[in-house]
Amino acid sequence: MHSADNPPYITRFAPSPNGPLHLGHAFSAIVAHDLAQASGGTFLLRIEDIDGARSRDRHAETARADLAWLGLTFEEVPAQSQRIDSYRSALDRLVAMDLTYACTCTRTEVRTAQKAQGLSPETYPGTCRNARRSLDEPYAVRLDMAKAAALTGPLDWTDRLSGKHRIVTETLGDPVIWRKEEPASYHLAVTLDDAADGVTLVTRGTDLAASTPYHRILQELLGLSVPIWHHHALLRDIDGTKLAKRKGSPSLADRRLAGEDGRAIAKRLRAGELPSGISLR
Ligand code: GLU
Repeated sequence: MHSADNPPYITRFAPSPNGPLHLGHAFSAIVAHDLAQASGGTFLLRIEDIDGARSRDRHAETARADLAWLGLTFEEVPAQSQRIDSYRSALDRLVAMDLTYACTCTRTEVRTAQKAQGLSPETYPGTCRNARRSLDEPYAVRLDMAKAAALTGPLDWTDRLSGKHRIVTETLGDPVIWRKEEPASYHLAVTLDDAADGVTLVTRGTDLAASTPYHRILQELLGLSVPIWHHHALLRDIDGTKLAKRKGSPSLADRRLAGEDGRAIAKRLRAGELPSGISLR
């Protein structure tokens, strides 16, 4: 059942298989699953294994088992490692549009220049923008934000919870869209994947909201469909840090193998009943 302002949403849970899933992932998956289900839509699982050096099949396998244990029914779409050709052809289009440049900076060089210019750690200081780097050494490809913004004009994106956001391109810096060691960057891959998978509601934690303007701009440049977003609060430890994969708390798989009831855990998370010391912020 659905109504006009609650259309059948296609949502996705998109874990990077570089470690076991924890309660925070369960919460995120439940949000995506329940919004799709309540609207008569579809909940997708996409394994984001673009980072070949850190991704492991066994973590993808575990994620599938964890979702089933939580009682979440999903349709799995191809993993990112199956989609490199589509990333490459999008890159080629952006290069042909003259919106990119090669960047040979190391992380240290970027940090030093950021400090010298008083920039935030997210904002690339522009070192390589007009440098015409030799392509003999390893390089990343960056999007020239000023050129991109001139082409797209002002853009907004809409969050189900926090409403409409106008993008201020001047503060974004030039994001990496193709990495030195690995193929496409998170920004390019996730934007293309969500469009290819027909995702209409992108659900993820508020920690990724700062990435959304880049995705909205790439959608516009590449003529992709534009979803709405739902950035949910995060489960946090007592000290305010988000429950991350590498912390000491038991993973979902630990709980599953210890015989805990996944559906009961999902039910408690839905009811906002959180383990002591953990809050949703
Ligand atoms: N693969 C990302 C992660 O595991 C999530 C990306 C997204 O939801 O946009 O953090």
